[in-house]
Amino acid sequence: MAILDSKVPEGPIKDKWTTYKDKIDLVNPANKRNIDIIVVGTGLAGGSAAATLAELGYNVKAYCYQDSPRRAHSIAAQGGINAAKNYQGDGDSNYRLFYDTVKGGDYRSREANVYRLAEVSGNIIDQCVAQGVPFAREYGGLLDNRSFGGVLVSRTFYAKGQTGQQLLLGAYSAMNRQIARGKIEMFNRHEMLDVVKVNGKARGIITRNLITGEIERHSAHAVVIASGGYGNVYFLSTNAMGSNATAAWKIHKKGAYFANPCYTQIHPTCIPRSGDYQSKLTLMSESLRNDGRIWVPKNIEDAKTIQQGNMKPTELSEERRDYYLERRYPAFGNLVPRDVASRAAKERCDAGYGVNATGEAVYLDFTSAINRYGKEQAKIHGIANASEEKIIELGEAVIEEKYGNLFQMYEKIIDENPYKTPMMIYPATHYTMGGVWVDYNLMTTVPGLYCIGEANFSDHGANRLGASALMQGLADGYFVLPYTIGDYLSDDIRTGAISTDTAEFDEVEKTVKERIDFFMNNEGTKSVDHFHKRLGKVMWDKVGMARNEKELTEAISEIKAIRDEFWKEVKVPGDANEMNLELEKAGRVADFLELGELFAMDALDRNESCGGHFREESVELDGEQKGEAKRDDVNYKYVSAWEYKGTPSDSVLHKEELEFKDIELKQRSYK
Ligand SMILES: Cc1cc2nc3c(=O)[nH]c(=O)nc-3n(C[C@H](O)[C@H](O)[C@H](O)COP(=O)(O)OP(=O)(O)OC[C@H]3O[C@@H](n4cnc5c(N)ncnc54)[C@H](O)[C@@H]3O)c2cc1C
Repeated sequence: MAILDSKVPEGPIKDKWTTYKDKIDLVNPANKRNIDIIVVGTGLAGGSAAATLAELGYNVKAYCYQDSPRRAHSIAAQGGINAAKNYQGDGDSNYRLFYDTVKGGDYRSREANVYRLAEVSGNIIDQCVAQGVPFAREYGGLLDNRSFGGVLVSRTFYAKGQTGQQLLLGAYSAMNRQIARGKIEMFNRHEMLDVVKVNGKARGIITRNLITGEIERHSAHAVVIASGGYGNVYFLSTNAMGSNATAAWKIHKKGAYFANPCYTQIHPTCIPRSGDYQSKLTLMSESLRNDGRIWVPKNIEDAKTIQQGNMKPTELSEERRDYYLERRYPAFGNLVPRDVASRAAKERCDAGYGVNATGEAVYLDFTSAINRYGKEQAKIHGIANASEEKIIELGEAVIEEKYGNLFQMYEKIIDENPYKTPMMIYPATHYTMGGVWVDYNLMTTVPGLYCIGEANFSDHGANRLGASALMQGLADGYFVLPYTIGDYLSDDIRTGAISTDTAEFDEVEKTVKERIDFFMNNEGTKSVDHFHKRLGKVMWDKVGMARNEKELTEAISEIKAIRDEFWKEVKVPGDANEMNLELEKAGRVADFLELGELFAMDALDRNESCGGHFREESVELDGEQKGEAKRDDVNYKYVSAWEYKGTPSDSVLHKEELEFKDIELKQRSYK
């Protein structure tokens, strides 16, 4: 059995990372040339890791299932990336970013990892600016910042609503330089289908060439998984359609513990679902909550009239509106963290105050901001006694400058002009804080097998703060893994090339081929999506924004039943030796059907409410926090790390007790 040792270095939190780096073993430049590293995934985490490892001199083999690293899901990130630069002079510091992240994660993350994240956050911005990433700048040319939920400072760097895309282009250029030098061998359109262990160490992977169907063996001295999150277990989510858990799940089945699978982020500002035939949900960036005010009607009669389409929101006077986040959380208002904002929206909609036909939407209104900016602009431009129309025109121009592409996206999807009518939003699955368990070195419980970016569990605890995922992915890839992996590889300088012509590779390749053969030959009648949608419905209804013992228990058996039926009834058309999207999906959904069960088991085990995990049994019953989520530090102050034992239901729970030496554990209040 693997030992759960977080390997956090000794010493004061501020010195841990520096002292640790001073002492770890290094691989000299000449020896790096003899060492191969596999990086699965070339989003922001994998792309930055691959580029940096190659720059250091290692031979990197990088894999993605898209036709180019540029198309990784990271490209979708809109709002920004955090860093404790304190450019605004508003009191930010490494400690404050560390504190906000631990508190935002509801005290369920490892202090030492989070402090390191805050410490390297500033370097990420410098690195990306040097690459030419066009971050937004203020009038004077300095980098601009905005604010995201759960914090009281402005530390979010952004490139309009396309931050992920611009950062990814930066990482991609860095990778391309190494591809041109021959230091990165890039395998586009290759899907990793399993990991190969030799003498207990990760030494390679089996992939399928998604164009030809060919099954291939690849070896290395270490394997890094950077395959993103598993939000698509819900079928509908804001994740890219292809995002999946296969790489992470396959290594879990080979010995890597899976941590906190039930920690999922449901993002409050998404375009509401429109019907049963939808395959994707769209995020409206959290940055919009800097200027948008969230409300529903104060009176149930007004809500009903709006739901029936007999009244427009613009016709409802100020006194008849309930700006419920400002009312409930005066200190943070519309910028409370995502879990708090999502639950508050659900609470209002469940009580009947929703504002669309299904009753599952709230308004995000920019009228106040348009007026405020319009008046400011009128002053700046010396327009005395500006008319109301002029103020609106000037104000809308500012909003367009800040969020133009998001407003355009909304209008294209909903066919309503959000400058004139408030947007409608509703929570949707967005991000997974849970993932593969890693120690301080970002190594999993399998030696030589690392996991970075959204695919691992580290840093965000039970709830991720906005703009912190990009920060973590790039911290892992540019600044953490390149150091820690050297410590492990220093033992491998005499190993020589790893052969793929071995019994271990034979065996794993055989199982991969058998599964593909099964899918191609099964005489089922139902599509892969049929099962994925059913799984997603169980997950959303019973393992979604609010969870309880009864429904979680039901979910576990329902997911098992769907899985059993999947293996009997799934139909995969086409051929294995060609591009076959249904075959790709079949493998991924098979893994989601196992992960979903473990997810529900984990949610059932954790009978406390923390961050994105809300147990209806664990709520504050009185006092100022009445009705808010209730954490239970006495019984649940641990990371759940699950060990696979043949089926999800046989999984064994290991606990990493969390220690809080630098932050006092408190009730998380945003009031
Ligand atoms: C709509 C949206 C907006 C967001 N906005 C922000 C934001 O403003 N700020 C922020 O901080 N975060 C944001 N996030 C979260 C953030 O974008 C992600 O957490 C982050 O980009 C994940 O990066 P990653 O490198 O870990 O994974 P990904 O970008 O998902 O990359 C995964 C990579 O793994 C590859 N891969 C996966 N499986 C396999 C396999 N089996 N074989 C081979 N390759 C494989 C893929 O091809 C891809 O290259 C947003 C998320 C969404 C959904």
